[in-house]
Amino acid sequence: MTLSKKEMLKQNYFLETEQVLPCEIGGKVMQLFASSSQASSIEEQIDGVINDFSEDFLTSIDSNSDIDLDLILRKFSDSQIPIQPADVESYFQYLGNHVVAHSIHTSSPRFIGHMTSALPSFVRPLAKLMTAMNQNAVKIETAKALSFCEREALAMLHRLVYNFSENFYAQHIQNNQSTLGILVSGGTVANITALWCARNASLKAKDEFLGVEKAGLAAALDFYGYKGAVVIGSELMHYSFDKAADLMGIGTDSLIRIPSDRHNRVNIDALQKAVANCHAQNLLIIAIVGVAGTTDSGGLDSLAEIADIAQHAQVHFHVDAAWGGPLIFSQQHRHKLAGIERADSVTIDGHKQLYLPMGIGMVLLRDPQLASAIEKQASYTMRKGSFDLGKRALEGSRPGMALFLHAGLNLIGLKGYEFLIDEGIRKTKYMADRICSMSEFQLLAEPDTNLLIYRYIPEQLRELVSKKQLTEIDNQLINQFNERLQKMQRQIGRSFISRTTKTATSFGKETSIIALRAVIANPLTTEEDIDAVLNDQIQIAQAI
Ligand SMILES: *Cc1c(COP(=O)(O)O)cnc(C)c1O
Repeated sequence: MTLSKKEMLKQNYFLETEQVLPCEIGGKVMQLFASSSQASSIEEQIDGVINDFSEDFLTSIDSNSDIDLDLILRKFSDSQIPIQPADVESYFQYLGNHVVAHSIHTSSPRFIGHMTSALPSFVRPLAKLMTAMNQNAVKIETAKALSFCEREALAMLHRLVYNFSENFYAQHIQNNQSTLGILVSGGTVANITALWCARNASLKAKDEFLGVEKAGLAAALDFYGYKGAVVIGSELMHYSFDKAADLMGIGTDSLIRIPSDRHNRVNIDALQKAVANCHAQNLLIIAIVGVAGTTDSGGLDSLAEIADIAQHAQVHFHVDAAWGGPLIFSQQHRHKLAGIERADSVTIDGHKQLYLPMGIGMVLLRDPQLASAIEKQASYTMRKGSFDLGKRALEGSRPGMALFLHAGLNLIGLKGYEFLIDEGIRKTKYMADRICSMSEFQLLAEPDTNLLIYRYIPEQLRELVSKKQLTEIDNQLINQFNERLQKMQRQIGRSFISRTTKTATSFGKETSIIALRAVIANPLTTEEDIDAVLNDQIQIAQAI
């Protein structure tokens, strides 16, 4: 029998308000804290159920159930906390029916529309160990070996990007004055942290002035004689930079977005002009941002050229490689990141192409002293000279996610990651070739990496597309069609592709193009799956 949450709770409520005495509640609660070695423990009982859930979930081909969002939200509309501890078995049954059953199968080989994919199997037992140990990476007193383990993992990635000498790493890897990288919950916090460091370093204490950290932005700009402060990068910069600009107090209007070319790379001349313009207007440039793998289409900025500009202007150069950073593992593709080693800071997401679970990002810092610009102390913890990781970080208490990063680097290794990256790009090329060979589809850009944008062309317009005679009205029709197609595919749930909007110029005018967006990162995705996803789209399109 499956009970709804309401029924289940009602049942508990009526049974137990009458029957359970206060001391019995204590007993029930204490049972929840029993260790797994105790006979017939709750943990053992739940493990069995969870293993079944996971097995079904992980072997599913469909990307999701076809339930309507309206129906789901109605299932979660109870704002009352149950009075009595619920029965464990019925609660997990409820979870299975209402949450697990309608979750997205991010590991499905036909879920190829987002940067979230299947994970290596070692992360699941490791997650159990991580929560069993429940370390708090904020400080040594709550995370002893883990703090050094985290520093080691970050140093490995630092070395991969910057490749400094053996001596450099020997000196800094476990030196509490040095910070080679900061482990955070994702690319957003990594980008914010990088710009925070850059801001504080460029408006630091000097003579009588206490620095932006203590005196605030208005006083700092005033002291240094700037009219304002900006961050400059491509128009395709991730929206986390808007959050950073907002938080830093410069406002999102001070995020200068430079147009990109048809390869989705920032226009270098326009970038150069913007820098000169800011100098002429006496604006502080906190950082110039290069994007290595745009979220939207995978385009890679020409990092070496941006590095030249930043170096000449003596401005902090930040590279957002949240998505594309792991290309560095590939002998074949790492040249696309040339110049990344000249960045002052680099963002890489662990939960994207390092195949680690959600909640892992990092910022790597070329100068091991840069993070001292954001250092904070507290008397009860995070003492000066300690190894407490929280003193140079935005986040306070945080989980021991370093375990996953360290395990990934060891269990997958340089060659393993190279294989994963190369395979993703190879299969993306396969998909691009398939799309080009099918009259139903139009490829919108040659893929640089494992991100692909294309669109479906309704039959009556195919000839016009091949003759390049589409009018703006035709284009709007195609846009509407693709939007519907993507929504229907998502709703049916057999497979999944995301969508994005690109601007393009035709007849000298800007038009917007709704594009289907494939991300081929899941190692389990085969050529057969790619064909199946495209055929699913054709089938749905024919029904529209
Ligand atoms: C994903 C992504 C981010 C944001 O990272 P989160 O982990 O989602 O916070 C930033 N920049 C780029 C280029 C990304 O692809």
